[in-house]
Amino acid sequence: MRKPIIAGNWKMHNTIAEGMKLIRGLIPLVKGVKDVDIVVCPTATALAVVTSTLRGKNIQVGAQNVHWEKDGAYTGEIAAPMLKEIGVKYAIVGHSERRQYFGETDEGVNKRARAAFAAGITPIICVGESLATREKGTYLRFVARQVRLATNGFQPEEAAKLVLAYEPVWAIGTGKTATFEQAEEVCAHIRQTITRLFGAAAGDKIRIQYGGSVKTATIRGLMEKPDVDGVLVGGAALKAVDFSQIVKFQ
Ligand code: PEP
Repeated sequence: MRKPIIAGNWKMHNTIAEGMKLIRGLIPLVKGVKDVDIVVCPTATALAVVTSTLRGKNIQVGAQNVHWEKDGAYTGEIAAPMLKEIGVKYAIVGHSERRQYFGETDEGVNKRARAAFAAGITPIICVGESLATREKGTYLRFVARQVRLATNGFQPEEAAKLVLAYEPVWAIGTGKTATFEQAEEVCAHIRQTITRLFGAAAGDKIRIQYGGSVKTATIRGLMEKPDVDGVLVGGAALKAVDFSQIVKFQ
C-alpha cells in the first residue's frame, strides 16, 4: 500500500507573515491526519521559519527547487545540504514553470533530483506535456522520456523512494483540470515506465501525484484512481481551508 502524499506548492506567493498565517490556520485543520503525508512548499525566505514552526507536527516542508552542487559559485541557488540543515524533507524539481521560464533541462532536473536524494531529501520530480504535445497525441511517449531522463542513474531501491508528479502544462494554473481518466492514463504509464526501467518492486512502490488545478471538487475522483497516489496543488494550497479539505479528500 502506498501512503498518499499531498503537497502544496506556494510558488512565489506569501511573505513570511502571510505564510505563517496560512500555516497557523492549517495546523488545527489537519490535526490528527496520519494516513497522508502532508507537505507545504514555501518560498525560500520562509523555509526556515515554517520548518521550525512545523517541527513535531504532521506537516512536512518542501523546497521549490534545489541545486546539484553542495556549494560553490552559483548565485541565487540553494544547495541540498543547506535545505537539509533546516529540516526540509522534500524538494520539487523540474516544475514546468522552472523548465519554461528558467530554461531547466531534463539533464539539470536529473542532477537536481540526484543531489537532493543524496542529501536525504525526497525529490518531487515534475513531468508533463504541453497542450501542443497532447493535441499531437504523443504525450505518453513524451512523459515517459522525461521520466527516463529525470531518473537516470538512480538504483532501483532509490527509484522506489522518489515522488513523481504528473503535471500537464495545459492544466497548471489554468483552472482546467485533466479528467480523472486522463490523469490515471498518464500516471499508470509513468508507473509502467518505472517498472520497465527499475523493476516491478520500484514500480509498485513509487508514489505518483497528479497536479494541475486540483480543487476540493476534484480531489476525491482523482484519489479514487489506482495509480494516483496524491496531488501537487498550486492555487488551492494558498487557502488553509481548501488545502485541508484536499488533504482529507473532502
Ligand atoms: C503547481 O504549481 O504545481 C500546480 C499544479 O498549480 P495549480 O494547482 O495552481 O494548477
